[in-house]
Amino acid sequence: MYDLIILGGGPAGLTAAAYALHKRLETLVITQDLGGKTSLRFHAPWLEGHELLSGVELVNRFKSQLEYLEFVHELDRAVQVVRNDRTFSVRTEKQKQFEARALIVATGTTAKRLAVPGERELLGRGISYSAVSHAPLFIDRQVALIGQGTRALYAAAELALVAKGLVLILPDPKDVEAPLAKKLAENPKVKVLSGFQISEIVERDRFITGIALRHNGTSRGFEIEGLFVEMGTTPNSQMVAGLVEFDAENRIVVNARMATNCPGLFAAGDVTNTVAEQVLVAIGDGAKAALNVYEYLLGRITV
Ligand SMILES: Cc1cc2nc3c(=O)[nH]c(=O)nc-3n(C[C@H](O)[C@H](O)[C@H](O)COP(=O)(O)OP(=O)(O)OC[C@H]3O[C@@H](n4cnc5c(N)ncnc54)[C@H](O)[C@@H]3O)c2cc1C
Repeated sequence: MYDLIILGGGPAGLTAAAYALHKRLETLVITQDLGGKTSLRFHAPWLEGHELLSGVELVNRFKSQLEYLEFVHELDRAVQVVRNDRTFSVRTEKQKQFEARALIVATGTTAKRLAVPGERELLGRGISYSAVSHAPLFIDRQVALIGQGTRALYAAAELALVAKGLVLILPDPKDVEAPLAKKLAENPKVKVLSGFQISEIVERDRFITGIALRHNGTSRGFEIEGLFVEMGTTPNSQMVAGLVEFDAENRIVVNARMATNCPGLFAAGDVTNTVAEQVLVAIGDGAKAALNVYEYLLGRITV
């Protein structure tokens, strides 16, 4: 029986683990990898030694600390969490079962992909799934954005402010009717295309140089230096479905203490309904979740 099980080894989970270690909690981390999405890097031919506001070094420090201390972790995927009387049991893909008094879910999200050849190879080499992180790197550059919903339109607005030109591809014609899309269409730097899909990604020296689009037999081609994909993200929250409250997009609803509506079950990072999918935000969430787990456990023992 552990005091705490942490699901996920990204910035949120690793920070929570570092705090749990500091508080001497008997902790197990169950994760598919150590580092999470911080292992993804962004390169562009014109960028040399650029500084991103990220916190990756801090995450790597926590990771090395846990590896050095041989901190207990299982490289596995959590598939189901069950709440017993006063404990939680976690079942994994490798058919193992673990039990703890408290749980932190920090399993992040998975970005929806385009499934176009070349997309995977050029990820971080001109293709980005995070306009919040990478839009500021494209000052005076020619870019395209394909996406859906409000988040994509805000990302497009940010790019329109910095880029030389923006091709805004909205596969869902409903998005074109949104007030922000109409405002963007008035900007001479922005070309809005409704209904189109990307059929081909063009590259040179392993950097994106262009895209081909198709819609109802019509083809278009554009030279670009960056492609932003904002098709939405899927939270990796299935293992606690039915146990805690989700928002409309299946993110785990947490309060300011990172507590869910299920006592003893906390969540941190991108998988929650907190604002901004960013490393530094996930680090803060992980710290808050671990400190509040500690307080929760203190409340349950006789001192
Ligand atoms: C391409 C890209 C580039 C980015 N660049 C930046 C940037 O420059 N700056 C910035 O601040 N942010 C950036 N972000 C966002 C940032 O990476 C995330 O906000 C951050 O990593 C979230 O941390 P997290 O711990 O919540 O989740 P993640 O980093 O996604 O980690 C989730 C962890 O959970 C594990 N996991 C998932 N499901 C399960 C399961 N069922 N069982 C067990 N383990 C599981 C995963 O293996 C992983 O270890 C970028 C995102 C992407 C996609």
